[in-house]
Amino acid sequence: MSYTSDMLKMLKKKYPQENEFLSATQEVLQSIGLVADHNPAFQKRALLERLVEPDRILSFRVSWQNDNGQTEVNKGYRVQFNNALGPYKGGLRLHPTVNQSILKFLGFEQIFKNSLTGLALGGAKGGSDFDPKYKSDNEILHFCIAFMTELYKHMGADTDIPAGDIGTGTREIGYMYGTYKKLAGVHTGALTGKGLEFGGSLVRTEATGYGLVYLTQELLKDNGDSLHGKKLVVSGSGNVAIYAAQKAQELGGTVLAMSDSFGWIFDKDGVKIDVVKKIKEPNRGRLSEYKDSVPSAEYHTKGSLWEVPCDIALPCATQHELTLPHAKTLVKNGVKIVAEGANMPTFGEAVHHLQTNGVLFLPGKAANCGGVATSGFEMMQNSARTFWSFAQVDTALQSLMSTVYQRIKQTNQKHSLGNNFVAGANILGFEKVAKAMMAQGI
Ligand code: NDP
Repeated sequence: MSYTSDMLKMLKKKYPQENEFLSATQEVLQSIGLVADHNPAFQKRALLERLVEPDRILSFRVSWQNDNGQTEVNKGYRVQFNNALGPYKGGLRLHPTVNQSILKFLGFEQIFKNSLTGLALGGAKGGSDFDPKYKSDNEILHFCIAFMTELYKHMGADTDIPAGDIGTGTREIGYMYGTYKKLAGVHTGALTGKGLEFGGSLVRTEATGYGLVYLTQELLKDNGDSLHGKKLVVSGSGNVAIYAAQKAQELGGTVLAMSDSFGWIFDKDGVKIDVVKKIKEPNRGRLSEYKDSVPSAEYHTKGSLWEVPCDIALPCATQHELTLPHAKTLVKNGVKIVAEGANMPTFGEAVHHLQTNGVLFLPGKAANCGGVATSGFEMMQNSARTFWSFAQVDTALQSLMSTVYQRIKQTNQKHSLGNNFVAGANILGFEKVAKAMMAQGI
């Protein structure tokens, strides 16, 4: 047995119900054996035992009143996982499926993702099992006030800086920031993804999707290719998916299909992003409405958008949405690249199938790190009381994604990992965090 496999065994015994957390830790632990198993100092300081256990998990009741005057109760969480590199940083997810295992997996991933950006950011994640779908603006406001009334005690510009995620967009961040500002009595960059009028950064809205496409572009460039003429399938139609699709089309690709949790659209002429935006922003409408504006398109509630033949697949909706059968279909249809916009959208066995069939696979913690990186740029602007232009932020984002690609490639070369970007990203992210944790004692 090795240190990493012992750790995995311990986690399976200790947290048998936490499937998502176990998947995420398994992927990381299996990749870092190469650098973690042969360092006795790590074991002496129980480095991995400390790395897989969050610094703390806050869970709290969120009671708010709906439009009928009825009080509703949700559960709120913040998993402050690791602050070795900097203050806790990670988004807030509002979705009925939210539970402790999902937030632990997301917080764990966030540690390595934030490390990959090269910025001084620790890892965290939070959220609630509140379902924003079909809620009025007033109900969203009341939920956000109630949620922040508890969370504000545990956050701050130098301690923990939450941001958006599924279900938490600019509107929700605005309502939460307004509450934070009142209760904490300060106007500091304690949340990112804020409105542009009160400390937000240009490009933050677009950053995760744009960053995903920039990293994909680096990979294509490295292989003497480009996005021009490529066919893409992008799952989801939220923040990440919309801006990934927009950037991919700007760079010469054609997005043939997109989805939401009710169904998916196929548009042989290329999905019209402005139509999707009108449906989804800010009211989270249904993609079935797409056909009203583009009658030639198809809307499906059966099957999967991964059946649409494409060169590049970008899963941008949620975790565990791309299964082994989907991966088999993608391979059969000739997919060349799969790059994850969402966090852990691809099942482990599907990743394995793609990689062993020559598909270039970019894992979420590298491919979607443009979002948190731009949150880092927002924090820099807030601290300096300044405001960067769109071009300034976009250039910084492109340059950061290019550096991420080069550093993962160098790590792969150093450890003879070939095109295994999963292992390269995990090792690269881990090495920096491990160094910081060892330097800071126990
Ligand atoms: P949004 O809420 O804006 O969009 C999520 C999209 O995915 C919606 O289209 C939603 O459909 C769909 N979706 C959600 N759950 C499911 C499901 N169970 N099955 C099918 N479709 C589903 O979220 P984001 O775009 O912000 O986030 C998407 C992913 O990207 C998440 O994994 C998130 O953690 C990750 N991410 C986000 C970042 C960001 O900056 N926003 C940064 C890094 C990662 P519907 O409208 O029907 O709910």
